[in-house]
Amino acid sequence: GFPEHHAVSPAALERHRRLVQALKQQGKGALPARWRGADLERVWNFDTPLDEVLRACDTVGAVALDAAGRFAVAGSTGGSWPMLRGRVGDTPIAGAGFFAGEHGAVACTGAGEEIMRRTLAREIYQMLALGAHPQAACEAGVALMPKDVEVGAIAISRAGHGAAARQPMAWSAMAE
Ligand code: ASP
Repeated sequence: GFPEHHAVSPAALERHRRLVQALKQQGKGALPARWRGADLERVWNFDTPLDEVLRACDTVGAVALDAAGRFAVAGSTGGSWPMLRGRVGDTPIAGAGFFAGEHGAVACTGAGEEIMRRTLAREIYQMLALGAHPQAACEAGVALMPKDVEVGAIAISRAGHGAAARQPMAWSAMAE
């Protein structure tokens, strides 16, 4: 029931536009904290030159409960920017970017390295298993992460659905 999306969201494009502009004006000092101290030009390992790959990327996640009472989760990402070829983010890692079981389903978005460190999807799922409403579980999960980390989560359980995020990066909406 949702409209199809083939593009990067306006919010991600805007974040990316601001970063590229800051990089052009201030140089490496404008890189996100996790890249400070790294020589991006030296370690860059894509065939395409760095300047041509200043592209925005985004993540989409979905959580579902079917008519037979089974939960499912799916996720797809363009990764984070900047990143090197070969990076594996949280999105394909069970327990980090996604988790589903008999109590519900959870999908996360945001800084993959931090999400993996905390196995965030599993943390939120655990709260669902203990009876927390998905809205409360998502909020508590986001609150577990360091304050400067971009993060968002969506979740569903038999009690309903919910979403929480530090930036406008996760919404909760229902499709029948
Ligand atoms: N979590 C994704 C990654 O780190 C990025 C995102 O959700 O925006 O690859």
